[in-house]
Amino acid sequence: MDLSTTVTLHDDVAIPQLGLGVFNADRGRQVEESVAAALDVGYRHIDTASIYRNEEGVGRAIAGGSVDRADVFVTTKLWNDAQGYESTLAALDASLERLGMDSVDLYLVHWPKPELTRDTWRAMEDLRAMGKTRAIGVSNFLPHHLDHLFEAATVAPAINQIEFHPHLQSPEVIEYCHVHGIVVEAWSPLKRGRLLDDPDLVAIAEEHDVTTAQVVLRWMLQRGVVTIPKSVTPSRIATNADLYGFALSDADMAAVDAMDRKERIGPHPDHITF
Ligand code: NDP
Repeated sequence: MDLSTTVTLHDDVAIPQLGLGVFNADRGRQVEESVAAALDVGYRHIDTASIYRNEEGVGRAIAGGSVDRADVFVTTKLWNDAQGYESTLAALDASLERLGMDSVDLYLVHWPKPELTRDTWRAMEDLRAMGKTRAIGVSNFLPHHLDHLFEAATVAPAINQIEFHPHLQSPEVIEYCHVHGIVVEAWSPLKRGRLLDDPDLVAIAEEHDVTTAQVVLRWMLQRGVVTIPKSVTPSRIATNADLYGFALSDADMAAVDAMDRKERIGPHPDHITF
């Protein structure tokens, strides 16, 4: 296992298991410098979204970097106000324009809007067939949202990107995705920094002489979850990817598995107001 390790999606697209998230990275130099720093230390996967308003910066950093576009896995997401058939088609075109790219590797429906899922997903399938995205998936879908999507889908979502970290493990979503061949991707894997002083995690980190963030991210890799920690700090971007010189024991894994508090940092997908 190393930074080039990928997870294969159901349609044979390979996604690097560790990527850089850029939510809240400012659209100008900050996002460009973060993406450049990540590519320099070997990241090959960047996670953005139209609502982050920084797709242009992501595109510029990739175009201006030393890594070929084809070697970087780029994800962007469809914002809620663009769900529906025609508007979904237009939204990816607009994202591609901002990214300066012909296609992305993964396009995600950012949040469930059950009344629009049928039309939105039909557009997602068509975008994939047109080659504008290599894979399609969803984000923040609970089992009942996925059940609803499957009623009309001809292509299953390849990924479900959900809030996932030691304090929120959602075993019922993980199990559903496992049964349906949907890869789980963790957002806010570090709970936005708010689990890094958890004494049980700190103890494991001290035992391995690594940071708490490294313990959390390594736990995800060993669980087979794709993860996209965000940082705009070059030293953190580097250490968050330095996960391959140690391994968590079965006892460490079990200890982190036991830390679930069902505690969210973000909104519940059934109660979004945006
Ligand atoms: P994370 O859990 O990745 O935490 C990011 C925060 O932790 C930042 O404040 C960062 O600070 C800090 N941090 C990062 N590394 C370290 C470290 N080693 N030590 C201490 N602090 C650290 O939160 P996000 O919410 O950003 O989630 C990650 C990504 O997931 C997003 O960027 C986005 O791409 C995606 N996402 C998707 C959502 C969805 O609905 N699909 C929702 C939310 C996020 P700093 O940057 O200052 O270094």
